[in-house]
Amino acid sequence: MRVLIIGSGGREHALCWSLSGSSLVTGLYCAPGNGGIADIATCLAIDPMDFPAVLAAVREHEIEFVVVGPEAPLSKGIVDFLEGKGVPTFGPTQAAAQLESSKAFAKDFCDRYNIPTAAWQACQSIEQAREAIARFGSPVVVKADGLAAGKGVTVAESEAEAVAAAQALFGGAMGSAGRTVVVEEFLTGEEASFFAICDGETALPLAGAQDHKRVGDRDTGPNTGGMGAYSPAPILTPGIQSAVMERIVRPVISGMAAEGRPFKGILYCGLMLDGDVPRLIEFNTRFGDPEAQVILARLMSDLMPALVAARDGALRNMDLRWYPETALCVVMAAKGYPGRYRSGEPIRNLADVERMDDVLVFHAGTAIARDRQLVSSGGRVLGITALGANIREAQARAYEAVDRVDWPGGFCRRDIGWRAVQRTRP
Ligand code: ATP
Repeated sequence: MRVLIIGSGGREHALCWSLSGSSLVTGLYCAPGNGGIADIATCLAIDPMDFPAVLAAVREHEIEFVVVGPEAPLSKGIVDFLEGKGVPTFGPTQAAAQLESSKAFAKDFCDRYNIPTAAWQACQSIEQAREAIARFGSPVVVKADGLAAGKGVTVAESEAEAVAAAQALFGGAMGSAGRTVVVEEFLTGEEASFFAICDGETALPLAGAQDHKRVGDRDTGPNTGGMGAYSPAPILTPGIQSAVMERIVRPVISGMAAEGRPFKGILYCGLMLDGDVPRLIEFNTRFGDPEAQVILARLMSDLMPALVAARDGALRNMDLRWYPETALCVVMAAKGYPGRYRSGEPIRNLADVERMDDVLVFHAGTAIARDRQLVSSGGRVLGITALGANIREAQARAYEAVDRVDWPGGFCRRDIGWRAVQRTRP
């Protein structure tokens, strides 16, 4: 089967890596891909938001199946478009992707199906937002309704800060994503993510993970796309995982089917854990990045049959097997990220790192320069991923690998995995 992956980050490198080992895959393409993906797939210089160009590439390369990584093309309807042209595609339709692309839709859905989540109100004007903020009291959370790449959320310590955040959103700070503003009750607890693969009728649990959003050690500094992750996450005990399936994932599958927008693809549940009832913070309708790197590193089964079964509505008899090891991914980013940073800096010694046992190097923002030298080309650049018998071993191996990378322009957090380490005895 000739397969095209849409996207260019560490998540897509992990997908390509996983599918490159599939017995079903005879040709692997990625649009647009990156410097690392180019080693295992044919990269096509196509903008994933240009659907006719994607279709032309599908025809030219006789692609038989498309896998969509990022949220932007999903929310613009790439699955509807390609399926409409007869191209089998893994991912949710535009209507199903609304679970991620509209927070008001997701919260309303939670209310309709009794899915535990923070109390909330959708606001169309600053007056409504002021009233909601005063009602919830501080701290309080203010969110742009639409996609804002993680930048549309303010956890406000005071009502004044919350009102200022709402004013900025209504003023156009996030464009049309902030036309509706969601004000939410502040939840306390510990965050974790849980993933399931869905075929419209059936959901198969994948695995849990914890990521690290803040740029600095001990979760300090500004938010980022994610500075590292590990799986499994000990906080997601078997009991909590069953509760997530029961209270969140299954109601999503049955509710979306009942409403005529069956959910196919990866359902990512961002959770707040405090006690026995997991509460939903957000849905994403695709793999997380860097969570995909650690989850796929642990997947023993062939991924391709699962993606095909999910698209075909045939997951019911599927069984996925996992390595029991812990996988941990440390993201190396360009100095300055998430603010201004430089691109085009040489990265050396990766071949040496890739030769290490149980270490995988996933590229996010890299490119091949004209002199064939690998260079940085983004904020988050590499996801150094290691497997170990437990969290401490995985962490030690990942940092041993990180320290071998010769890239003076890069940095990383030094404490990825700290919560899990704290939970386990040495
Ligand atoms: P992401 O980049 O994860 O896709 P997003 O823009 O979709 O982010 P959310 O996940 O809804 O936004 O919120 C981002 C972060 O804000 C959460 O990971 C969490 O730390 C915090 N947060 C959001 N909602 C709440 C809440 N109700 N109570 C406490 N913290 C919250």
